[in-house]
Amino acid sequence: MKTFDASGKRRKVVVVGAGNVGSAFCFALAQSGLAEEIVLLDANADLAKGQALDLAHGQPYFPAVAIRDGSPADYADASVIVITAGAAQKPGETRLQLLQKNAAIVSSIIGEIVAAHACGVVLVASNPVDVLTYVALKRSGWERGRVIGSGTVLDSARFRYLLGRHCGVDVHNVHAYILGEHGDSEFAAWSMTHVAGMSMEDYCPVCRACADWMAERHAIVQAVRNSAYHIIEYKGTTCFGVGMALVRIVGAVLRGENSVLTVSTLLDGEFGLRDVCLSVPSIVCHRGVDRVVESRLSDPEREQLAASADVLKSALSQVGGAS
Ligand code: NAD
Repeated sequence: MKTFDASGKRRKVVVVGAGNVGSAFCFALAQSGLAEEIVLLDANADLAKGQALDLAHGQPYFPAVAIRDGSPADYADASVIVITAGAAQKPGETRLQLLQKNAAIVSSIIGEIVAAHACGVVLVASNPVDVLTYVALKRSGWERGRVIGSGTVLDSARFRYLLGRHCGVDVHNVHAYILGEHGDSEFAAWSMTHVAGMSMEDYCPVCRACADWMAERHAIVQAVRNSAYHIIEYKGTTCFGVGMALVRIVGAVLRGENSVLTVSTLLDGEFGLRDVCLSVPSIVCHRGVDRVVESRLSDPEREQLAASADVLKSALSQVGGAS
């Protein structure tokens, strides 16, 4: 039986980069039942073939989905192309240090995607994700919503997890967003944070989980910001959390959900910023980002967003991308 995405296309997802992140994403996507077809590509063709075979052998245990390795010809009719190709972050290496290496890789992949006359959405996960999303968007020449980055969707999940654990509340009853760069200048939008439908100011007096919330909340944000560094120190890579975050975003595109997600998207005057890709709450539908939600941030949060944009513009200038 054929399944179709919200725009009437087959639910075909192409994943470029069959390493840790790409394979963890494919594993989670296969279990989700969201895709009809999953196609893996990698510069290392044997790796793509091996991962596809390994995953395909699980077919008796998850919803019907075809899994195979492919070629750039597969871009043409893909609903979503997810780019997880590139060098991974080394211990102690910042995401911005990966910049030059991964910008060239992503740029050449986008060249192939455009040449294939692809008509789907491109989702960039390779780091530094905000800069690479900008590079990919400019290289594609497409409208801004069609090339997006995973941004702080993972960071927001980490934030919700830590807040839920701190307050002793199910993570599903915690609504919270990390905005800005997926990296060191990211920040928590406390003005948008709700637990059990209440703002933190209202929830704290009834929570009684801690004696000094201001100190605790600083520690929580630090833990979110340093999550990747800690995981990489322990196991050399991060893959499962981001894999599940990518499924969340791809699901919103395939099903045309209009979900509010903090994907990385090009700003064009929103929040007083333009010509930079970073994470703000955005409505994600079958065309990618439909629109940015201009939340009423506090003055300090607006300043943090502007500071994050400055960091990213300076990184972009290192690859000749900032205007
Ligand atoms: P990895 O080394 O395991 O896999 C990367 C794969 O990309 C390799 O298999 C490599 O052969 C392939 N590749 C390189 N150049 C290619 C090209 N031109 N075409 C096709 N394939 C190519 O690395 P990983 O751990 O999977 O990480 C991948 C990327 O994801 C890194 O940039 C990493 O920093 C990033 N990442 C992002 C997030 C996030 O939240 N956005 C989280 C974790 C990792």
